[in-house]
Amino acid sequence: MAPLIKYTKHFIDNEWVDSKSGKTFETRNPVDGSVNAKVSEGDKLDIDEAVKAARRAFHRNSEWRQLDASQRGQILQNFATLVERDADYLNQLETHDNGMIKLMANMMSDFAVKSIRYIASLADKVQGYTVPADGDNFSYTLKQPVGVCGLILPWNGPILMFIGKVVTALAAGCTVVVKPAEQTPLTALALAALLKEAGVPKGVVNVVNGYGETAGVALTHHPDVAKISFTGSVEVGKLIQQAAGATNLKRVTLELGGKSPLVVMDDADLSLAVPIAARGVFANQGQVCVAASRLYVQSSIYDKFVEAAVQYAQQIKVGDPALETTHQGPQIDELMLNKILGYIEKGKKEGAKLLTGGKRIGTTGYFIEPTVFADVNDEMTIAKEEIFGPVQSIIKFDTLDEVIDRANNTTYGLAAGIITTNLNNALHFSKHVESGVVWINTYLMGGIQTPFGGFKDSGLGRENGIHALDPYLEVKTVTISLPKKL
Ligand code: NAD
Ligand code: MG
Repeated sequence: MAPLIKYTKHFIDNEWVDSKSGKTFETRNPVDGSVNAKVSEGDKLDIDEAVKAARRAFHRNSEWRQLDASQRGQILQNFATLVERDADYLNQLETHDNGMIKLMANMMSDFAVKSIRYIASLADKVQGYTVPADGDNFSYTLKQPVGVCGLILPWNGPILMFIGKVVTALAAGCTVVVKPAEQTPLTALALAALLKEAGVPKGVVNVVNGYGETAGVALTHHPDVAKISFTGSVEVGKLIQQAAGATNLKRVTLELGGKSPLVVMDDADLSLAVPIAARGVFANQGQVCVAASRLYVQSSIYDKFVEAAVQYAQQIKVGDPALETTHQGPQIDELMLNKILGYIEKGKKEGAKLLTGGKRIGTTGYFIEPTVFADVNDEMTIAKEEIFGPVQSIIKFDTLDEVIDRANNTTYGLAAGIITTNLNNALHFSKHVESGVVWINTYLMGGIQTPFGGFKDSGLGRENGIHALDPYLEVKTVTISLPKKL
């Protein structure tokens, strides 16, 4: 049964409001392409209203700014309790709007609750330090919230992305305008309602639905927005940094995906390596920024590995994401479906060997067979570009030193992994690979406690971890002259 959709308008100043233009857009269920809801479509005028509300809420005399940091933390802890209370509903809504399989949605919302609690606990631990400055001076630093933050979200993990960015900004004392992905606005709206219920004062959290080219652009160019945090494509990430430079030098945090290498050494236990590599690329239909989409396997075990990888892919159950037995659901929309199928065609044309999958399943919804290519080389398009779909590309290598250079020969640098029983291999690889995250004998593991972000074109800045609030804070140095004598 379809979950009840309670909210489809913008959320501004703790109220549900229509677009100034009266326009709406459709959000669809990727299982069959049917319309889930008509959602208010915001543009510049709605962003302006939301930023105004967020500015008011950021005023030094506002209710929000007057709260103790510990009270801010407590409101966020209340929010965690509400997300926990409504987890089943939120997960259903996520599956309905995004096509995320039930098991993944459950896992992500558990992770989300933990994340809220962790970040909320940092709210009253923002500390400056004292400085032994030259002369008869005493200096100390304050860390203060940067201001109104624009948070632009992707569609591949809507609940987790909303929570990661919104809760961190709020813990730091900022106010926010959120622009959810146009493909998946529904869970963001449900979460905004829970923030209000948790006690967040009006204007602190605002959500404006709409497209990137209109609402997104208005937010990134707004002179009263002090910071943008964005997760999505490199292309848009670069536009956002340009917008920041062209306007008010907004602070920018970017998380932009990758083409992450996973290396399997010939000393690895294949019964571990094959499932780790498969989950690394097939999880969430391949719609994962850290997807292990370049799988390097050492030549002496290559054939054996490929055979086992094909067998693994063939037992992945694709189907209704609402069922607990399903491993893989639909891709997000028709555009991405066709983009992925286009990459598969390119792979075939450029000479990679298609060993299983490669086709759309049926004609309803956006399902793709788990696909495995062997004999992929570094020059092929499928080894270079982010596919964001269930496509495993297996590449042969001979030595560790060679594969490190090949792994680094990309403009991306988000994640990397190595599977080996040799400690020296693991340490050498993790030291020299150019990526923000390295996994050894595992993949996709991590928690809110660990910093996350990319080298090179994969992004700017880090999210999560003990310093998660820093990108939402400015450092202020205060210097006091001390009298020489009394
Ligand atoms: P996108 O970057 O276009 O969209 C992400 C978000 O940015 C959405 O909310 C969108 O509305 C907004 N946006 C788009 N253009 C904007 C602009 N000019 N200014 C401000 N905001 C803007 O991503 P997409 O088109 O949905 O997907 C394209 C590709 O991006 C995918 O194939 C995938 O490779 C990659 N992607 C990566 C991630 C990730 O986790 N890093 C997530 C989603 C998509
Ligand atoms: Mg787009």
